[in-house]
Amino acid sequence: MSLKYRIIPVTPFQQNCSLIWCEETGKAAVVDPGGDLDRIRAAVREEGVTVEKILLTHAHIDHAGGTAELAKELGLPIEGPHKEDNFWIQGLPQQAQMFGFPAPEVFTPDRWLEDGEEVSVGNQTLEVLHCPGHTPGHVVFFHRESGLALVGDVLFQGSIGRTDFPKGDHNTLIRSIREKLFPLGDQVSFIPGHGPMSTFGQERATNPFVSDRRG
Ligand SMILES: [Zn+2]
Ligand SMILES: [Zn+2]
Repeated sequence: MSLKYRIIPVTPFQQNCSLIWCEETGKAAVVDPGGDLDRIRAAVREEGVTVEKILLTHAHIDHAGGTAELAKELGLPIEGPHKEDNFWIQGLPQQAQMFGFPAPEVFTPDRWLEDGEEVSVGNQTLEVLHCPGHTPGHVVFFHRESGLALVGDVLFQGSIGRTDFPKGDHNTLIRSIREKLFPLGDQVSFIPGHGPMSTFGQERATNPFVSDRRG
């Protein structure tokens, strides 16, 4: 009995919203509900799970835009991101305008997350890693037992997150990846915020931004 997941691409940016759940209890979390709530609702129905919370990696609109609506509809607590991303939450209406998204409601997470904390989904526990660089309050969720990480826009297959936004920083992002994510192990698979899954080992070997060959 372990942690199961299903990836639900949402928004025009094809953000990988994830439904994760504890097989034992059927309790679930929606990670990064950026929008397209109908698709998220359909996935929840099909899997027959009970959503108990929303987890956020960071507060860009394609990851957090549907948060307030879904939280209100299902009465869910919101956990994450780190409080350094509060300015992005407060700026959700402006982000929406910039990218032509429907205007979302601003919200306040029930729990800001810190590096080293844990979040639970049913009987499963995920570790929280604060991984700034793409946004200052970006967090990653790591389920050690199954070797699965949900990394948002920190790392992609063959690429890394953008750092040209306010409070983004390239060197900080590289450090987050090399000093926090890679030590978790080559065999760890990760769900990125966009695009296909990969493993830390594959990125260490081939990712032009953070591979071992790139000093
Ligand atoms: Zn982002
Ligand atoms: Zn994104």
